[in-house]
Amino acid sequence: MAQYFQSIYEAVSTALVGMSITIKHIYRKPVTLQYPDERQVLPDRYRGFVHNDMAKCDACNICAKLCPVDCIYIESEGKGKERMMTRYAIDYNKCIWCSMCTENCHTGSITMSHDYDHSVYDRRSLVYEFMDPTEQTIPCHRATRIDTGWWVEPKEDKPKPKPKPAAEPAAEAAPVADEPAAEVKPAAPVEPSTPAEPAAPTEPSDDKGEDK
Ligand code: SF4
Ligand code: SF4
Repeated sequence: MAQYFQSIYEAVSTALVGMSITIKHIYRKPVTLQYPDERQVLPDRYRGFVHNDMAKCDACNICAKLCPVDCIYIESEGKGKERMMTRYAIDYNKCIWCSMCTENCHTGSITMSHDYDHSVYDRRSLVYEFMDPTEQTIPCHRATRIDTGWWVEPKEDKPKPKPKPAAEPAAEAAPVADEPAAEVKPAAPVEPSTPAEPAAPTEPSDDKGEDK
């Protein structure tokens, strides 16, 4: 009989413990999102898929040369003012999201986006083509870009004011050099080199001889 009531007690108590945990979470803010209808708010510096704004790109090839895994493909035709970009593609199978391309692009056209959900069934689909040469080619030369309305002002060069602080430390360096020089003076106590005097004691040796 005691076993019977013991079982009832355990069943009720465990149910209450479980319900108490459930009730606690009813009033808590959910940590999950209804993806894909809801998206995570990402930090500004989040490195998602690399994106290139073709209106700004002038096919200078800097990004392709700096890419450590050679996953940027740029092709162009013609020379000088007639040079036209026919292909700009990025192979995301190889990209390591290092951001070397975005940090060195002089026009600011290539950026790290906040896109991260590009799941595909075929890896070949991860080679992204940013332009269709049958529909458009992009002028590379600055003069041609201005004439055809493709020109976009390059991004600002922020590191220009750096030269000023470089001159100040040089001036400060001088006084620093003088101070230690003054301290070197104490080294002058080399005077003790005069201990040549002790050599004089040789004279007394003569005296001794005379005494004898
Ligand atoms: S560095 Fe910038 S402007 Fe030059 S090719 Fe790459 S994306 Fe285009
Ligand atoms: S993020 Fe790095 S690996 Fe990816 S395309 Fe740019 S330079 Fe290449």
